[in-house]
Amino acid sequence: MSAWEKNIRKVIPYVPGEQPKDKNIIKLNTNENPYDPSPRVMAKQLELEALRKYPDPAVSDLVNALADYHGVSNSQVFVGVGSDDVIAMSFMTFFHGDKPILFPDITYSFYDVWAELFGISYNQVAVDDNFELKLEDYYQPNGGIIFPNPNAPTSIAKPISFIEDVVKHNTDVVVIVDEAYVDFGCESALSLVDKYDNVLVVRTYSKSRSMAGLRIGYAIGNEKLIRYLNDVKYSFNSYTMNYPSIVLGVESLADEDYFRETIAKVMETRDWFTEEIRKIGFRCPDSSTNFVFVTHEKLQAKDIYEQAKANKIIVRYFAKPRIDNYLRITIGTREEMETFLTFLKKLVSNA
Ligand SMILES: *Cc1c(COP(=O)(O)O)cnc(C)c1O
Repeated sequence: MSAWEKNIRKVIPYVPGEQPKDKNIIKLNTNENPYDPSPRVMAKQLELEALRKYPDPAVSDLVNALADYHGVSNSQVFVGVGSDDVIAMSFMTFFHGDKPILFPDITYSFYDVWAELFGISYNQVAVDDNFELKLEDYYQPNGGIIFPNPNAPTSIAKPISFIEDVVKHNTDVVVIVDEAYVDFGCESALSLVDKYDNVLVVRTYSKSRSMAGLRIGYAIGNEKLIRYLNDVKYSFNSYTMNYPSIVLGVESLADEDYFRETIAKVMETRDWFTEEIRKIGFRCPDSSTNFVFVTHEKLQAKDIYEQAKANKIIVRYFAKPRIDNYLRITIGTREEMETFLTFLKKLVSNA
């Protein structure tokens, strides 16, 4: 070890799903939308001379468009570089108490990475054997709560009554609901934002809006929460959102029909695919997301993952306690899922 290395920060980073260069791969590993962004987004002319200047630090155009879209005030919206950025900022801002924050043991695997990075103590509360969050677990003293709804990688949604109960029992801390997948058939907690000043709802363009590449995420909450969040943002990086993201982010919101249409297609393919894999010995919870979380009665998840990869189909495998015999499969186009199903049928019949 070099002498300077003892003075540096050492962290264990989050490992994102791989982004292979090979275009012939069927990519079902990072929950991207298989459909293009809205034609309005694709056709939008950017005034690239604008790149000479810094972008608007307040991201006003996008904040205003999001406020209009969701029927909230401008002062209730915060925008960041993907919801990862929004959530990281939220950890820095809201999880500053002495008690550990709470999140499920099986959930988005970035939460513990941020908690470690920012030195926040945390308690990963166990979901039950059906991967369901248990209400009573969130009645214990804590320094804040975060969970995705629907949860990832389990794909299970909780009703708004569950969220409201958690929020009501934790008025002394901030409760963050990560709604990365909410558009695929789950009730949003947005209606709680005006009723409770301690709930923050986080959304992303990466999944339902087919715009993972632009990196747009946002949060909606009480204006005091948003003010605190902006104070931290302006203490860290004033210009988080670049000009193309702001312009194209606004454009996407203007095309509601296309948005609804692509989501409906993904959900339809998901429900068909779920039915088909159950017929060949897979088990999975009913999904409220754009992925399914599956295990097989005879085949090992890791083997399926490796054999699929050898056949140019990649899905996500997590070598983690409790879920190491599961695969998270993103819903692609109907054609992609048919190819994958054919592959799985062959695998099962050879087992
Ligand atoms: C994909 C995902 C995110 C991050 O989304 P970005 O907006 O692309 O940063 C956050 N939370 C959950 C649960 C996700 O699955």
